Formats: sequence, structure tokens, C-alpha cells
Amino acid sequence: MNKNACGFDILNNPKLNKGTAFTETERDLYKLRGLLPAGVSSQESQIKRVLANLAAKTSDIERYIFLFSLQGRNERLYYRVIMEHIQQLMPVIYTPTVGLACQQFGGIFRETRGFYITPKDRGKMRDILSNWPEKDIRMIVITDGQRILGLGDLGANGMGIPIGKLALYVAGAGIPPEQCLPVMLDVGTNNEALLNDPLYLGVKQPRLTGAEYFELVDEFVSTVQETFPKALIQFEDFLTPNAYALLNTYRDQVLCFNDDIQGTAAMVLSGIYASTRISGLNFSDLRIMFLGAGSAAAGMADLIHPALCEAGMDSDEAYARLWFVDHLGLVVNSRDELPEHIVNYARDEPAMAFLDAVKTFKPHILIGATGVGGTFSEDVLQVMASNNQHPAIFALSNPSSHAECTSEQAYNWTDGKAIFASGSPSPAVEYNGRTLQPGQGNNAYIFPGLGLGALACEASRVTEEMFLVAAKTLASMVDQQSLDQGTIYPPLKNIRAISLRIACAVAEKAYQQNLAQRERPADLEQTIADLMFDPVY
Ligand code: NAD
Repeated sequence: MNKNACGFDILNNPKLNKGTAFTETERDLYKLRGLLPAGVSSQESQIKRVLANLAAKTSDIERYIFLFSLQGRNERLYYRVIMEHIQQLMPVIYTPTVGLACQQFGGIFRETRGFYITPKDRGKMRDILSNWPEKDIRMIVITDGQRILGLGDLGANGMGIPIGKLALYVAGAGIPPEQCLPVMLDVGTNNEALLNDPLYLGVKQPRLTGAEYFELVDEFVSTVQETFPKALIQFEDFLTPNAYALLNTYRDQVLCFNDDIQGTAAMVLSGIYASTRISGLNFSDLRIMFLGAGSAAAGMADLIHPALCEAGMDSDEAYARLWFVDHLGLVVNSRDELPEHIVNYARDEPAMAFLDAVKTFKPHILIGATGVGGTFSEDVLQVMASNNQHPAIFALSNPSSHAECTSEQAYNWTDGKAIFASGSPSPAVEYNGRTLQPGQGNNAYIFPGLGLGALACEASRVTEEMFLVAAKTLASMVDQQSLDQGTIYPPLKNIRAISLRIACAVAEKAYQQNLAQRERPADLEQTIADLMFDPVY
């Protein structure tokens, strides 16, 4: 506790505030007498009060607003509640509720949090970044709000995403909250409804594009290197072409990654590894088909490809195991236009519809990343079941209404054979007397631990090999009981243990790759564990 702070300075500081949990001695010491009701609570009883308040709310958006303001009042209480109830509260502080919160951002805005950059700040980035009160920033999540979840261009309203993601870094991996910086690159919006909304709080102009856009990002990235030289920059929810352009520009220059592309990929690869523990198939024998050929699917394939090579295949053989299908059908070389990120996956085959592609190439694994609900039809899943003892079905699009199929459909249409994972939480299904429990393909399994590992060893870059090892580590943490229920991800409530294990593996990889700038401690695991923020008072 800062010895100079007292009275309302403490109560109004979310990092210092314990509210009614200040002890009698502390109340004397910090001049809090008279400023609090007489009753002294423990943190545990405060948690009960928070949970009772949450239960009394009638909608998740109200729960989101309540937790958001708790974070602004009492950080340790907020994080302890989140950590101890992560499974229940992740859908409130992150997807799907965060999507709603972003859509309503202008209306529910109460207090500022995070850092806003606009085109007017061009040339002044160093000055304005020095306005941020914390000087040892290590983890930055930045978005320009153009592709928020599956919701499209939400402009400055997308700020909810970096805020939510960083809350998961803290809760999931113990990155200290004062080292986190949420950033909104507010370059305008092309969303007419927002431009015409009097409550919209962002820059009211069409989006900055082209060279001016990339120069603004570049000024930000280079200023971060000077101002916060140990910071990891996570790019989040950029439109696909910009997401790739930024990742390809900066991945070999600075410590950064794109979670939509790389984090999702590692989470899916982990699910694929774990699925082979149920299906009994060899990873190197798998045929994998993607529905949706955007940044998410291409990112997955770009990581599965080296994983197949690592399993002993040459590059061409590995590409030949991966098929892409989008709204036009199978991605083939004869198409007039092929976006650069899927060129490697286009086939020398005749054009064909999704169902025909499934019949022809007999994939063991289907991965949906279309953003379009219901695209895994009964026909498709029946063919998967007739070709496979245990077809693995990933319906990853969020929110649930956009998922390619539901858990019920996945199990019912495959005679209960499917190994199923979805992007949003899905209910368990009773099938022929068995309880089948879908896994949640949630990026939060990977990015907190990956970030922690990179920061702990002060890695200079985030590499593909780090994502590969993160995927393997996560897959190894699925226990037999989960596999028996068809679940290919470990319980989210173990997130801190999962993140620590992934962080160790990632840091170890950084040491192997000579990318760590901090001397390797004798006990890596203990050193990383000691870095993790503990929200207990
Ligand atoms: P994107 O817009 O870049 O790509 C969407 C792709 O889907 C495009 O290739 C498009 O052609 C294709 N598509 C659209 N309609 C289709 C249809 N009817 N049939 C076949 N293909 C169709 O988006 P993205 O960034 O790649 O994300 C796609 C989805 O993946 C999002 O909805 C998102 O929710 C989901 N996602 C989930 C996670 C997760 O953790 N679960 C992570 C990242 C992305």
C-alpha cells in the first residue's frame, strides 16, 4: 500500500481500494474512519455479495456493466471473482456479451478505460502515449474496431475488445493489471448507423485507409518500441487484409502476434491433437477441410501445415491434406481471384460445392470459420459420420447463433459419433444414454499463457514454434475423463495452471531459439509462477 495515500485517494483508487474489507487497523492508518460503514468484510464475503448482485441482474449486459464498474472500483476483488468463476463469467466479460457491450458502447459508456489514438495524433504519438500513467507496460492489445467478433465495423465501440482481452490476460495468466494497455486505433468507421448516431463517441468520419492508415499504425508500433520497449503487442479484430498486412510487416521486427490468426490456430491445432486421442488416428494421417477461407481458417491451416511437416511430411504433402471451401465452393486454382492468404491451399480440382467436396475428399476433420450459422447441414454431417468412426467437427463461429451447427445437431446427425467443439459454450447432449460434452474452442486457452511465457523470458519475437508448442502443451492437459465424454479441451476453470504450463513451454522455446533476453532462471516454472498477479488482499 502506498503509505502517502489516504482517505478517498485510497477508496477511489481501484488498485488500492479494498472497500469494506479494510481492517480496523488499516482504517486508522489510512484515515478511513467515517468514510466506510462500520462492518468489516472479508474478501470472501465481498465475493458472495458480488455473486448475489450478479444473480439478481436480469441480463448479461447488466452483469457486464456491473463487473466493468467493479473493475473500476476494486481491481483485486474484480479479478478474484473472475478467476474463481471463470467458466461462468467468461461469457459475461468476453464473448458473447462483450459483443453486445461494444454494440451499445456509446449508450453504456460511464468511465474511460484504455487509450485512444486518432488520425489527429499523427506525429504526436510519443507525447500522447506519455499521458498514460503507468510506465512499465508489457502487454498491449490493439484493435481498429473494423471486424469486431462476427459483428463487423463497430468503430471506436470496439474498445470493449482490448479491455476484455486484457482482463483475460490478468485473470487467466496473472499478467499484472498495471502492465496492461488496451488501445483503440480510432481511424473512423464506415458503419453508417454509427456515423448517424448522436451518442457515438468515436471519430465521425469514414475510415482512414491506405498509406495514411499504415503510417499511423507504424508510428504507434515504433513509439511503443521506445516508450514501452518490453511490451508485447497483440493485434486484435482487424479486417482480414489489414490483419495479415500488419502481422506480416511486424512479426519479424517486434514482439507481436495476431490472436485471431495465430491464437485461434493454436487452439484448433490443440483440439486436433486431442481428437486423435479419441479417434486413435495418427496426426500425420489426417485429412482436414475448412469451411470459410478468411483470416481465422487460413491462420489455422498456416499452423497445421508446419505441424504436419514436423510430423514427418514434406511441404507439398502437408498442403495436400488441407482443403478450403468458402461461399463459392471448393477453393480451386481456376478461380479468377484468390486472396493471397489462401493461394497455397487452392487445389487443381474442378469447382465443386461443399457437400461434394466432403464426399470426394473424405476429411476426418471439418472446421467451420464462416461466421454463418447452420452451414454444417445434416447431409454434410451424415457423410462425415458414414466416412469416419469419430468425425471431428469444429463449429467455431461466434456467437452461438452464427455457429456452423449446434452440439445437438453435431451429435444427432452423426449418430453420436462426433467429436465436437464450438467457439461459444455449447450445452451437453444426452445421446443413447451417454452424456456428450462439447469442448469450447476458446482462444483464452492459449493467448494468456503464450503472452506470459513471452514476457517472462523477455522474448524479442513471437514465433510459429511457440504457437506449436503451446498447442501441444494444451492438448496434453486434457485428461481421460474429459476424452471419455468427447471433450478435447481441459476445463476452463484450470486456466491458471494451463497458462503456467504453456508459459513455461513457450519460454523454454524462446531460450532454445535464442530469442530470450533474460537469463534463464534455474527454476523456470517457479520464476514464472512468482510473476503471476495474485488478487488476494
Ligand atoms: P472472415 O470474414 O475473414 O472470413 C469468413 C469466411 O467465410 C470467408 O472466406 C467467406 O467466404 C466464408 N463464408 C461466408 N459465408 C459462407 C458460407 N455460407 N459458406 C461457406 N463459406 C462462407 O472472418 P474470419 O476472421 O476468418 O472469422 C470467421 C469466423 O470465425 C468468425 O465468425 C468468428 O466468430 C470465428 N472465429 C472464432 C474463433 C474462436 O475462438 N472460436 C476465433 C476466430 C474466429
